[in-house]
Amino acid sequence: MKAKDEVEKKAPLQIEGEELPRVVTMKMKHAPPPGFEEMLRVFPFANRAGVMFCFGDTIYNPSKVRVPQWIVEHEAIHMKQQLNMGVEAWWKRYLIDVNFRLDQEVPAHQAEYRCFCEMNPRDRNARRRALRDMAARLSGVLYGRMIRFEDAQRLIKNRKERVNGDSQGVVSADQGADL
Ligand SMILES: [Zn+2]
Repeated sequence: MKAKDEVEKKAPLQIEGEELPRVVTMKMKHAPPPGFEEMLRVFPFANRAGVMFCFGDTIYNPSKVRVPQWIVEHEAIHMKQQLNMGVEAWWKRYLIDVNFRLDQEVPAHQAEYRCFCEMNPRDRNARRRALRDMAARLSGVLYGRMIRFEDAQRLIKNRKERVNGDSQGVVSADQGADL
């Protein structure tokens, strides 16, 4: 019995204190999201191939690209945010309020990076590339150049337990929003 328990603890993807598997799923539609015209007015790059949208409990994937699990985890953060606030209200504010947008995107990118790292535990170079790509996206034209690349990298890597003096345990957008 004891020996068996020890073996199980050494299983490569087992994370202590967490039950496996923890796979986040969402609905998906191969179509533009509701309100796409309005989104395009604010984000002209949103019609690029591969850009996806969370609207409520559904990922809208108009260019029908393959969606890796870490993107599902990113969109699932937006799903929670939207269902909390009201989907229409969330999108309305997301389109006009840059600080709000950053505040919503930071935890989504953190979840995406965390998932990528969990799924690529033995590939340090892949994790480094992924962080660079995610930081380039978070700081890039798609979202309207909200922050600098270096700040994006730092914010994405940050784990909540490493942020000192933040009683909410959440990385504040203010830390990266000063341009
Ligand atoms: Zn996002």
